[in-house]
Amino acid sequence: MRIEDFPILRKTKGRERLVYLDSAATTQKPESVISALREYYENENANVHRAQHALAERATLAYEEARKRVSSFIGAGSAEEIVFTHGATEAVNIVAKSFCETLSPGDAVLLTEMEHHSNLVPWQMEAAKKKIELRFLPFNKNGELDYFALERLLDEKVKLVSVTHVSNVFGTKNDIPGIVEFAHSKGVPVLVDGAQAAGHMAVDVTALDCDFYAFSGHKMCGPTGIGVLYGKIEYLRSLEPVMGGGEMITSVWLDRAEWNEPPYKFEAGTPHIAGAVGLGAAVSYLESIGMDVIEKHERELTAYALERLSSVADLELYGPREERAGVFAFNLADIHAHDVAQFLDSRGVGIRAGHHCAHPLTRKLGVPATARASLYLYNEMKDIDILVESLIQCGEFFKHGV
Ligand code: PMP
Repeated sequence: MRIEDFPILRKTKGRERLVYLDSAATTQKPESVISALREYYENENANVHRAQHALAERATLAYEEARKRVSSFIGAGSAEEIVFTHGATEAVNIVAKSFCETLSPGDAVLLTEMEHHSNLVPWQMEAAKKKIELRFLPFNKNGELDYFALERLLDEKVKLVSVTHVSNVFGTKNDIPGIVEFAHSKGVPVLVDGAQAAGHMAVDVTALDCDFYAFSGHKMCGPTGIGVLYGKIEYLRSLEPVMGGGEMITSVWLDRAEWNEPPYKFEAGTPHIAGAVGLGAAVSYLESIGMDVIEKHERELTAYALERLSSVADLELYGPREERAGVFAFNLADIHAHDVAQFLDSRGVGIRAGHHCAHPLTRKLGVPATARASLYLYNEMKDIDILVESLIQCGEFFKHGV
């Protein structure tokens, strides 16, 4: 689609065309994001919020402008609801630490069996400290959540639900509106891990009505080291900060301090200013294409990939057959996933192999690892053709040594 906007894809294209199919791990960056970072450091660099000189004012404006862009990109009520973090992981950790402080022993948090470690381990850490029970909504053989189990699992002990929007292994698009509606009918707030959704589909947190939404800039054309925690303002006002330092206070005495308003209350220390500016540029880039166009392109690629992958002998594909995102975890015959990934690399195809930071999911599948190909807006139908040809060659190679 827009391969020419991405210098890294352009460069490798001339040599031997790189087929980049690892966007679920991180996406490539368009020229406009790279130049926004350079522009910021060349013309605007200063610390934010703290000084009276012109450069500091420009840096603060650029940082706050990025917050506004992100806020409107996800349909938040206001920019105050956007906390900059270093990624989805930090965003989930903030909610886990802060929210669990309000819980009592015996209370429960409901997760799912398909969570990335970053939406599992932070809860385990808090659960152990506060004697909180963790419950898990199971997934079925197609990698879809068992929504009927919600009735049983979401009782009065459950104080929060935290669930991924899109699975980073199965590509399942979870029914967030349905989960939110059911949880809210019981008075329970919902955190959504949007790391694999934001930047791939139009996300409107107001329409979803979720209470928190976490995502990472680097998985949507932005820089690494910057991410977002969206929180409904009433939660951001009532929850305690988890990290202390400069910026997150209004007054400090030797023995105590008063917290700043959200979002600053959750942004202790000098933030990743350039990262936020880069994320703002990424949002502008995605909007210039149109999230509906990106979503349509990925849907078409996904349908084509499902059809083509089903023609590969001995390929076991995990996850739903339809209504899914462009993330494909699979195993090929009895070849170890790492061997598949290495063979494909020798053909200029970059995929990932392993547990994809989802040990419990991989364990439930009963396999040591899976190979994973994942798509983004710069992939084309012919990338899928090359993937499929390479997989067929890989099968032949391990069977016959040719
Ligand atoms: N959740 C999901 C579903 C993910 O795929 C990832 C990244 N692989 C994360 C959370 C964590 O994102 P980050 O490492 O950028 O914080």
